[in-house]
Amino acid sequence: MSYRSDFHCHSDISPDSRTDLVDLARAAADKGLSELCVTEHWECGHPCADWQERKKPFDIPRYLERFEAARSALGHRIDLRLGLELGNYTQDPAHAHRGMDALPLDFVISSLHTISGEDAYFFDYTQEDMNPHLRAYLEECLELARQQDYDSFGHLALPLRYAMIHAKRRLSFDACQDILDDVLREIARNEKALEANTSGYRSLGEPVPSVPVLRRFRELGGKLVTIGSDGHNEEHVGSYVEETMAALREAGFTRYVTYEQRRPVWRPL
Ligand SMILES: [Zn+2]
Ligand SMILES: [Zn+2]
Repeated sequence: MSYRSDFHCHSDISPDSRTDLVDLARAAADKGLSELCVTEHWECGHPCADWQERKKPFDIPRYLERFEAARSALGHRIDLRLGLELGNYTQDPAHAHRGMDALPLDFVISSLHTISGEDAYFFDYTQEDMNPHLRAYLEECLELARQQDYDSFGHLALPLRYAMIHAKRRLSFDACQDILDDVLREIARNEKALEANTSGYRSLGEPVPSVPVLRRFRELGGKLVTIGSDGHNEEHVGSYVEETMAALREAGFTRYVTYEQRRPVWRPL
């Protein structure tokens, strides 16, 4: 049996999940995963930090308490890691550091949750010419990729997934290949990982980003890739991990990484 891990998921510490961390970890163990890293939202800047503050402010002591509870209950069945998904780091670096400094983190995802200044989740994906917005998204991803305080770059291509979910539209980065290459090259140059987010299988039938983008990352010198479901509940945690491992092999990778105390650990694909 291959070594399966999920390095991107959310419990009810995050504003958009209602699942207790112990239940999330138990579901992952029941699915046969070897390792799970919980990566709660730590949103920076407007409008995402406002959203978090309004819906459910980050409760650091509770995160640590639920994590220890999960370790006590399930540590003999699954290795658990403590992580954070830093949203929109460059919009408020000081706030990002407050989160990172407060927690003994194994792993940090950097991701962008806005597009043209709006929350990507609520963006209007029906507008005719989406290319200027996709370009703006990737330009901001490039700024994020340049900063050093992360381990893996999360769900690059998030707007393509939301466009399918919210507007039944299959968009692509074809008109933005130049800036996409710049982002991939920057992640590779900094020896950071690119995340293969399995959630794309639930809407697009492929990981986020897609196999051609993962392959391009490798061509541009990228070596490190992580696998994360972005599951917010027991059903989605650990889902489509095997399909994503196959997609990574198709993109030419033979290994992926998990993280422990912010250091990569190689795993076979
Ligand atoms: Zn995210
Ligand atoms: Zn997430």
